Amino acid sequence: MYMLNTVLRNLFSKPATRNYPFVPSHTFPRMRGKLLIHADKCNFCRLCQVRCPVLCISVDPQQSTWAYDPFECVSCGICIDVCPSDCLFMENKPCAPSPQKYRSHVQGVPRPKAAGRAKRKDDVADGSAEVDAAAKPQTADAEKKTKQNNKITTKK
Ligand code: SF4
Ligand code: SF4
Repeated sequence: MYMLNTVLRNLFSKPATRNYPFVPSHTFPRMRGKLLIHADKCNFCRLCQVRCPVLCISVDPQQSTWAYDPFECVSCGICIDVCPSDCLFMENKPCAPSPQKYRSHVQGVPRPKAAGRAKRKDDVADGSAEVDAAAKPQTADAEKKTKQNNKITTKK
């Protein structure tokens, strides 16, 4: 008798599962979903890469790029907590299903410091190598003095 009740209830009730991805999944306001970034605020410090427990983030400060693998991410939110620029956040819906794996690449804005470093390199290439040339004799002098001092120390 009990079994008949269960059979009849299941026959006339809706299935407990949904036909995802053809039917959208249920979301709720504080759901941890797809990780996104405000690339213009990122300073490429790599803290998120270092602290990610599954190592799915890669940051390249030289190229000013940020990338992550949405299929490896476990949505723990640690990267969001440690980011000093508050540029990481999550959508309240899951990453869309895909038949192929991919990495999400974002091109950011180069940091002023990196730009300054590149400028100095350009300056040297443009002919300001005399700065280096001027510095060399000083280094040689300094080495000579150090050697002399060492000799004196050895004699004593
Ligand atoms: S996203 Fe945040 S933690 Fe990651 S490199 Fe950019 S500033 Fe640093
Ligand atoms: S949410 Fe967690 S697993 Fe996903 S990228 Fe951030 S630190 Fe890594």
